[in-house]
Amino acid sequence: MIQVPHLEWHVTHSCNFTCQGCGHYTNDGYRENISLQTLKDWYLLWNKRIRPRELSMLGGEPFLNKEIVDIIYMTKEVWDVKEDQKLELVSNGLLFDRVKGIDRALIDTNCVLTITKHSADPDYIKLFDKSIESIKDSGVNYMIHDATDYWLKSYNGYGSSIEPITSDNYIKSWDNCPVGQENFILQDAMIYKCSPLAYLPLQKKKYGDLLSSKWDSYLKYMPLDPSASDLEVFEFFIRTAETVCSMCPSSKNMFKKDSPLHSPNYAKKFQTEIKKN
Ligand code: SF4
Repeated sequence: MIQVPHLEWHVTHSCNFTCQGCGHYTNDGYRENISLQTLKDWYLLWNKRIRPRELSMLGGEPFLNKEIVDIIYMTKEVWDVKEDQKLELVSNGLLFDRVKGIDRALIDTNCVLTITKHSADPDYIKLFDKSIESIKDSGVNYMIHDATDYWLKSYNGYGSSIEPITSDNYIKSWDNCPVGQENFILQDAMIYKCSPLAYLPLQKKKYGDLLSSKWDSYLKYMPLDPSASDLEVFEFFIRTAETVCSMCPSSKNMFKKDSPLHSPNYAKKFQTEIKKN
């Protein structure tokens, strides 16, 4: 078994938020869940080869996947998650009350619910506080990741208008990696270095030729395939900076996000304006 610091994956590409600069590109109206069976098939290709210290289910917004309760139980079982590992579900929390059985599933599987706090926008905060009250009352083990003042931008624009910020020093980009340096992604049975590389092909599929050609070289990135040898798997996880990291800015591009609750149409107009200025 090759020890891996962190592995995460989308249980859905759908999201109820339209966050500016989403590092998973799921801010502009994707409607696609990953089924229980598909996830199980992906897990079975890797669960006997790697042992992640942290296993994280996310999206998009995981509560939009109607199979989420079964997915949590199945994930715990198939990965055989032990006490020295962390099983986590990352959510914005707003739909917690709408998912029947979610509290029981999280408690039964010792799965931590991580709630990301996205913005200081007063309308959003009202909904956020209400959902935290429910989560607290439910007895699940939860933590709040307060990212209100800590969003890192890895590209400009929104939807089809996105463009990489790029850098002429990929080592500096890696040093300032906008999504953390060890957040490996399981997507379509393969393992990617990070979310911007893993989900970029979805943007290409969605927007085709509308997507800037500035992304073309990054779309050629080769993820880790399940047919890789043990040595190739080992080498993949110990790589640090790679030339593909030139896709990202060379410094920490921190910004305060607007409300995540805007409609995709409003967000597109608003964020395209920001890009022009
Ligand atoms: S391409 Fe490199 S710097 Fe950019 S998010 Fe991925 S790992 Fe980080």
